[in-house]
Amino acid sequence: MKALSKLHPTQGIWLTQTKRPHCGHNDVLIKIHKTAICGTDIHIYNWDEWAQQTIPLGMNVGHEFVGTVADIGVEVQGFSIGDRVSGEGHITCGHCRNCRAGRRHLCRTTQGVGVNRPGAFAEYLAIPASNAFKIPDNISDDIASILDPFGNATHTALSFDLVGEDVLITGAGPIGAMAAAIAKHVGARNVVVTDINDYRLALAQKLGATRVVNVSKESLSDIMAELNMSEGFDVGLEMSGNAQAFHDMLNNLNHGGKIAMLGIPEQSTAIDWNQVIFKGLTIKGVYGREMYETWYKMIAMLQSGLDISPIITHRMSVSRFQDGFDRMLSGQSGKVILDWMT
Ligand code: NAD
Ligand code: ZN
Repeated sequence: MKALSKLHPTQGIWLTQTKRPHCGHNDVLIKIHKTAICGTDIHIYNWDEWAQQTIPLGMNVGHEFVGTVADIGVEVQGFSIGDRVSGEGHITCGHCRNCRAGRRHLCRTTQGVGVNRPGAFAEYLAIPASNAFKIPDNISDDIASILDPFGNATHTALSFDLVGEDVLITGAGPIGAMAAAIAKHVGARNVVVTDINDYRLALAQKLGATRVVNVSKESLSDIMAELNMSEGFDVGLEMSGNAQAFHDMLNNLNHGGKIAMLGIPEQSTAIDWNQVIFKGLTIKGVYGREMYETWYKMIAMLQSGLDISPIITHRMSVSRFQDGFDRMLSGQSGKVILDWMT
């Protein structure tokens, strides 16, 4: 079958022929229709230090997908051939304390599809059936292919009550922009999104941000004055991984403020602990999606009118994958979707 693989220890990704994956007793085999490119795939493409230490050469990458069930393991119940599915890309052990308590997103031995095991940038993907998620008919293939990053945005944004709150989102990447849409949808008052990239800020605006701020040109405190926010933000969603952005967030949160952190900062990032202590801030780290509460919330929000479709800016056949990766590398894109059927 056709697959996008990390064949060589250098920058790039290669369209190649590999063996169709085996469908184990508890697996579903999924015929992939569409996939989306994630920031993680860009790390792998660039072959940065993390990728060199993590990704086995020769492996198919990718973990954002939609497809249909093509084969079912003998132990599997609840799925039929032809079911339209996406899936949770974090494969958990199932027998640690957190897994057994239903807190699978906190499993200590999570394996990543397209990171630690063969991924979705291929004609077929095999994953445990318990990781597959059926897609209702009224959710399009395009949206279904980005449920993974939309799930990151959902898990983070719904970490704290947003109703009537003023929310600061640092980072208008695809996940930050989708988080802005969610915050608005669930009833936040002001949703302010910062970035240093105007293309991305325009996307966040399209998705419903009250005000977007290019922090290389405007100051957050001026914007707060403009919005009559004299006390500070109630909730911060950190989605840039940038130390300066997090510093700005700590400075501009109200006392008692809450922060959910998805962005991954440099290992050695220092923070101003006095802000945390004297303001009585709460900081929560967020990894992946809650299994499977986040998935149900996503579908419910989409079915109750949340529109995240403007985040998809480019669609192309997988044969043009290089264009897709170049788009992502340029920073002038939202989500880029590769079609495996054309
Ligand atoms: P992205 O890299 O596309 O977006 C990050 C954005 O932050 C970019 O648009 C960048 O211009 C912006 N930025 C840079 N400096 C800034 C500053 N000083 N102030 C404000 N914004 C600034 O990433 P994404 O795919 O949207 O993901 C968001 C973050 O979440 C990334 O750090 C990613 O690594 C991380 N992530 C974490 C998880 C998890 O499970 N914890 C999952 C997916 C992604
Ligand atoms: Zn576990």
